[in-house]
Amino acid sequence: MSPLLQKQMLFAKLVPALIDQAHRMGYQVTLGDAFRDPRVFGAPGVAKGYGHKRSCHKLKLAIDLNLYKDGQYLEDTEALRPLGEWWEAQGGTWGGRFGDGNHYSLEHEGMR
Ligand SMILES: [Zn+2]
Repeated sequence: MSPLLQKQMLFAKLVPALIDQAHRMGYQVTLGDAFRDPRVFGAPGVAKGYGHKRSCHKLKLAIDLNLYKDGQYLEDTEALRPLGEWWEAQGGTWGGRFGDGNHYSLEHEGMR
């Protein structure tokens, strides 16, 4: 099993825990992008469509979550910090560190 496949399986295992944790923290959640198919978005390193050309979405290692409190969409990254820091404690990378607070990933070979 390749290191990438191992990491993809770990990510798929961690995502439900991330969503459960969001609910425990009182957030409401809708799902955003997870996998961005390179046939549509370009191979890693290739810019096509939207999103970063070296995005972990192309590696099945990222998901975007839209968080709400009391039905109100949370736009401010600071409001997402508790969940982002929880994700980091699990070994993940939180996009709030680089202006993309809805983004949760596992870094791979410099891609996040
Ligand atoms: Zn993302």
